[in-house]
Amino acid sequence: MLNLQTFHTGLQTAQILETEATLGDRRLYIGASDIAQCPRKVVKGKTNPQPHTLQSLIRFKRGHIAEDIISEALHAFQHERQMALEYVASYCPLCHWYGQNTRHCPKCSTQLSSLPLTAHLDFVFPDNTILEVKTTSLPAIQKSWEMQLQTQMYLYKEIQGTSPRGYILTMDIAEGTLNLTEPYTLNEAAADEIIGRAINLWESLRSEASQPETEPSALCCVCEYLSDCPAFEGNTLPEEVTPLIAEYHSAGMVEKEAAKDKSRLRTAILGALSPGKYQAGDFRISLSQRSRTSTDNKAIAFLLKELGQDISKYQSKSTYPVLDIKHISAK
Ligand code: SF4
Ligand SMILES: [Zn+2]
Repeated sequence: MLNLQTFHTGLQTAQILETEATLGDRRLYIGASDIAQCPRKVVKGKTNPQPHTLQSLIRFKRGHIAEDIISEALHAFQHERQMALEYVASYCPLCHWYGQNTRHCPKCSTQLSSLPLTAHLDFVFPDNTILEVKTTSLPAIQKSWEMQLQTQMYLYKEIQGTSPRGYILTMDIAEGTLNLTEPYTLNEAAADEIIGRAINLWESLRSEASQPETEPSALCCVCEYLSDCPAFEGNTLPEEVTPLIAEYHSAGMVEKEAAKDKSRLRTAILGALSPGKYQAGDFRISLSQRSRTSTDNKAIAFLLKELGQDISKYQSKSTYPVLDIKHISAK
């Protein structure tokens, strides 16, 4: 008989086989996407891989679907898909200097070590253009994507000897929308941060006793290593509060689903009606246009600065409680 576990197990196996075939042993190198993520999550993911939730596995597949769509859209343009770049940098294990053409650190004379770096580029065009595709419903370009692209461009330049141009294309598969960034150029100043983060990851991977840094973010709620993450260690919850937290969390999930439904229905209703008054059964409906005034705080801050004043003089601060609850997902 079919049940959800059948699909989960099947996708899990397919994912493991595909990762092995395309990415190889991920403990043997630092990837461009690793550099931009939470170091603890990356190191744990390589040394102690956990089964992914069904939701995560389906999300991974969305990325492939988006790439297939873009590949079809670009069929008239010559391009290479999933270009693998492999590069070994040299670095000083003591002072983290990095560079080439020398076996010893010019700063402290320590023998240099190797740092294997790899990037998989979604699309590369003959005019040295790299296109990174992301599936998302977020409107803004994430810093981590920019860092991943900068890493790809850095490796491309080191290997091909030419500075590439890069774009990030975001696709919301559910909505059918695409967004292409302006072109990025290689930011030479970012190389220090990129290699610095890669060295820290590499050293954490090679030392059993290492405690890689945690970088909490909105993605922690889908992290497979949340349950024992030191960033979320705290006091034991008073017993009487525990059921309230569980109930609060479930209410939040219901609210989220309801908000999604409400937004979908609102779009459908607005698309079907013109401004006016309507009635149906117990419902009396009115659709009208209302104007809204918004204030450009950035422009005001700029003007005040011109007048030698700071906007903070006109702002007042107050505190309010922020309750954040993360739920460890069932595997
Ligand atoms: S829970 Fe967040 S901070 Fe902890 S390892 Fe995962 S991503 Fe990093
Ligand atoms: Zn050194």
